[in-house]
Amino acid sequence: MEPEFADVIVNITASRLDRPFQYRIPAALKGKVRPGVPLLVPFGKGERRLKGYCIGLKSEPEIEPERIREILQVAEKDNTLEDKLVRLAVWMHRYYGGTLLQALRTVLPVKRRVKRRIRKRICPLVSVQQLQKALEETEKRGQRAKARVIRELISEGELPYELVRDRLHVSPSSLTSLEKQGLIRIEERPEREDAQMICAGEASFALSDAQRGIVETILQEYREKARPEEKEPKVYLLHGVTGSGKTAVYVEAAKRMAALGKQVIVLIPEISLTYQTVMRFYREFGERVSVIHSGLSDGERSSQYERAMNGELDVIIGPRSALFTPFSDLGLIIIDEEHEASYKSEQVPRYHAREAAKMLAGLHHAALLLGSATPSVDSCFKAMEGEYRYFRLTERAGGASLPSVHIEDMRKELKKGNRSVFSEKLKALLAQRLAGKEQSMLFLNRRGYAGFCSCRECGHVAKCPHCDVSLTLHQNGMLVCHYCGHQEPKREQCPECSSRYFMGFRAGTEQIEEGIKKLFPGARVLRMDRDTTKRKDDYEKLLSAFMNEEADILIGTQMIVKGHDFPRVTLVGILAADISLAASDYRAAERTFSLLTQAAGRAGRGGLAGEVVIQTYRPEDPVIGFAAAQDYEGF
Ligand code: ADP
Ligand code: ZN
Ligand code: ZN
Repeated sequence: MEPEFADVIVNITASRLDRPFQYRIPAALKGKVRPGVPLLVPFGKGERRLKGYCIGLKSEPEIEPERIREILQVAEKDNTLEDKLVRLAVWMHRYYGGTLLQALRTVLPVKRRVKRRIRKRICPLVSVQQLQKALEETEKRGQRAKARVIRELISEGELPYELVRDRLHVSPSSLTSLEKQGLIRIEERPEREDAQMICAGEASFALSDAQRGIVETILQEYREKARPEEKEPKVYLLHGVTGSGKTAVYVEAAKRMAALGKQVIVLIPEISLTYQTVMRFYREFGERVSVIHSGLSDGERSSQYERAMNGELDVIIGPRSALFTPFSDLGLIIIDEEHEASYKSEQVPRYHAREAAKMLAGLHHAALLLGSATPSVDSCFKAMEGEYRYFRLTERAGGASLPSVHIEDMRKELKKGNRSVFSEKLKALLAQRLAGKEQSMLFLNRRGYAGFCSCRECGHVAKCPHCDVSLTLHQNGMLVCHYCGHQEPKREQCPECSSRYFMGFRAGTEQIEEGIKKLFPGARVLRMDRDTTKRKDDYEKLLSAFMNEEADILIGTQMIVKGHDFPRVTLVGILAADISLAASDYRAAERTFSLLTQAAGRAGRGGLAGEVVIQTYRPEDPVIGFAAAQDYEGF
């Protein structure tokens, strides 16, 4: 039987989508009313008509039939922002499941009343020369946070308070102290006034030919693209090693789009939403760029969306959800680190930002630019098939060189009698860095680590005979396959070489910290893992401390690998590089490669040359070799 009733939500941008209302579908409209279709319906008393959207069909009435009113007409598709967002929600609902209402709630901005916001700005009170002098003194005293503000003030003139606090990681007390020194004033202005202020910042370098070529291609194809019938958007995959100048491409492409009057969404995994990246957009766009991050309240987020709707923004930067910024004429969506797992939503609808972005770009006829040092195999495949256009940046920009990489075979270390978690090479290089006052990072690859059992002498890993995934060592001494349930008792000796060093892998970040303190009693060490980042701002605090050079060595899990740019880090140690290779997951090799490549990419980002030590029990594994050589094609 044809459904006779439709669930309709009305007034969607104003209401909080609390509930749909039921309407009757008149005979003339049967077959035309489908989920996502805009409608005109009578609402409330009198002659009031509202635009609504059908979100579902029903055969049975849910209230007394005589109280149900009729849909007046199917509204013209006017291709408003609202229509686009509803269409995006309909697609999400069909593609990822969940209810249409859940999808709509994900896509549509939450409306919260906000007080007119006062924006605080930090303004210098003295000349650039005087700032320069203050900078030298501050640096001499080792006050790095303050020095950072002064340096940015010298190049920018003024800075928004939130940016300095949240992204430059400068505490309010440091700012107060600068105020007391008479160097700055913190000014308060109503939001609108500073919206017109454009920063006169300019890039301090010219794009390379390769970079310019990419920007030109995207822009040219965008301008040519006046073919509204073409639904599929243009997708570009920019593959470039860390430091090869991808961000510079993003900024330039965004700038060119803004010049055409189009808006740009830049997605970055929350964890790499660092001040360096934000500053680079801020330099180009000043008050016309806004940042969305998880620290914002609903009200603050809502007010950013409002600015977007009012045409006050050219660019929005943020994690996954920034995709739903209500821009009226989107020209470009950029997804940095497109391989990141955080682009997949963990809540219903479990959308992937990359796919949702493709859909949204199609609705706006916008371009989609994916970037990564280690593209996901999915995207790479599509690029090879010609579905995406493929761009490559192969060298580090500005002449910086890739770090030199040492692969240390931990089986040999054991034979030499070294039972610690650090190879001789790593110890020696750490000592050098401490003497030279350069910073080091130690990364413990813990993915797939729990219960993992291997031989320290030959590298043999306990695997399921049926499934070829690693077995997990349980408390009761059994090795268990988490796929098929296969069980076997853990042997005392390695089944391959009979060595006694066949055991679970125990070292955690804490043990590594202890080990370092024993080896280098004078070293200042920070540890970043789940335990030390329990509270919301712990993570940021640790990062700022390390950035302020309050520590010589940062030890951590995957958290420390992502997107941070510490100019004084010249040594990266990767402990147990191969553990995640044996993880029980078909993406294990891909993840390991990506993690190792990114970790190695952390070394030597400033003017200083970098070195990387990869410790492994399986140096012959090709994934390790490819990561060491940053050789994605090979992988
Ligand atoms: P990625 O995003 O690929 O890591 P970035 O865009 O951050 O690379 O560039 C790395 C560094 O090189 C940055 O410090 C940037 O300012 C600099 N850089 C980028 N492009 C150029 C260029 N064409 N000339 C000189 N320096 C550049
Ligand atoms: Zn063995
Ligand atoms: Zn199995």
